[in-house]
Amino acid sequence: MDFAPSEEIQQFLGHVNKYIEKELCPLEEDFKHMSWTEIEATLKPLREANKARGWWLPQIETEHGGMGLSVTDHGLLCAELGRTPFGMYVMNAQAPDAGNIEILIQHGTEEQKARYLQPLLDGEIRSCFSMTEPEHAGSNPIHMSTRAERDGDHWVINGHKWFSSSADGAEFLIVMAVTDHSPDANPYTRASMIIVPADTPGFKIERNISVMGHVGDGYASHAEVYYDNVRVPITNTLGAEGGAFIIAQDRLGPGRIHHCMRWMGICERCFDIMCNHVAMRELAPGKTLATRQFVQGWIAESRAEINAARLMVLHAAWKIDTVGKEHAREEIGIIKFYCANVMGRVIDRALQSLGAAGMTDDFPIAAYYRHERAGRIYDGPDEVHKVSVARQILKRYAADVAPVG
Ligand SMILES: Cc1cc2nc3c(=O)[nH]c(=O)nc-3n(C[C@H](O)[C@H](O)[C@H](O)COP(=O)(O)OP(=O)(O)OC[C@H]3O[C@@H](n4cnc5c(N)ncnc54)[C@H](O)[C@@H]3O)c2cc1C
Repeated sequence: MDFAPSEEIQQFLGHVNKYIEKELCPLEEDFKHMSWTEIEATLKPLREANKARGWWLPQIETEHGGMGLSVTDHGLLCAELGRTPFGMYVMNAQAPDAGNIEILIQHGTEEQKARYLQPLLDGEIRSCFSMTEPEHAGSNPIHMSTRAERDGDHWVINGHKWFSSSADGAEFLIVMAVTDHSPDANPYTRASMIIVPADTPGFKIERNISVMGHVGDGYASHAEVYYDNVRVPITNTLGAEGGAFIIAQDRLGPGRIHHCMRWMGICERCFDIMCNHVAMRELAPGKTLATRQFVQGWIAESRAEINAARLMVLHAAWKIDTVGKEHAREEIGIIKFYCANVMGRVIDRALQSLGAAGMTDDFPIAAYYRHERAGRIYDGPDEVHKVSVARQILKRYAADVAPVG
């Protein structure tokens, strides 16, 4: 097992590290007072410059205009980009577009690729993935109310979704809807993915949901949306009819590496801030916080947990690269809950170490504390992944894993 990047990748990561430090982190102060529309305008020239020098779509094959990095190398890059909230965005590697690009490449028709994929690859438009519904447990999305009914060569979609991230300003949404309405339909094959252009009559953004005190706008928002007799051609079906769950799974494997390594970048940023702070903050003349064993414990535990989490992710990435994602399900499940919790603990210790300053927006820690708590919920809550991992393991022991009752 060897996660060491090639000389070329190592050099690239070094350049990116300096770029983040010099070009992106200094923008954060101004961005605190800007709407997404203003931030987007500031980032546009940076994106164009990155595209021109080939720092673009790192995870996508070169034939589609990307850098063609392996999952492991892309993971290492995400750990650099994650050190600032806009790192992924300036290389067009941000969720939810990254996942939508992947499924459009894998499942899109030529027409869909020309109309929806190409402008996404070019960074000209944004997109949204619209699956979760307020009325149903998103942890078990076989239960959903959104329906698409055939009317000639069109689907007519009716439904209510929320946490449709970045729907505000998106050019199109990939919507998950039940398309097989027969009473004995298999729950795992009765739903399809359908592409809905955001300007289709009947599609409505009800509101951007206030999350942890922030409504947000544009890319940085989570919308509640309605589909009210939305008509789109049957040819907007992405992949096979009834294939929604397979496609949703395709979206999640390599995407988890991206999220987990981005979280490692956040951990490193918070860890640095904590260490710098405790090294200079004096409790009494000449006696810094760094002299206290409690604080030393935070440092040692954080370092150990970040190292462990990072190696786990790299191992999962290496497995995807070498034997394929279908053989790395257990590892992918483990990193999702493990890394999200490590991140939560590291952010929390960093915040605590700064005292009142940690609560302010003078440091990025408070924003991370607010935003990143969701990592334990989206793309499957902790508990769902733990249950799934435990079941995979227990099956090897021939255990009966059926839920009690
Ligand atoms: C910031 C953010 C962004 C998101 N972006 C998107 C997006 O772009 N598109 C989209 O479609 N959705 C998105 N989501 C929704 C997300 O996918 C769901 O929140 C998630 O799937 C959980 O579903 P739920 O919220 O309905 O919780 P529920 O399914 O109702 O679960 C509630 C809680 O119950 C517990 N639980 C659930 N299942 C089990 C179990 N089997 N055993 C034990 N305990 C369990 C968990 O603790 C869970 O947190 C986003 C969510 C957040 C917070």
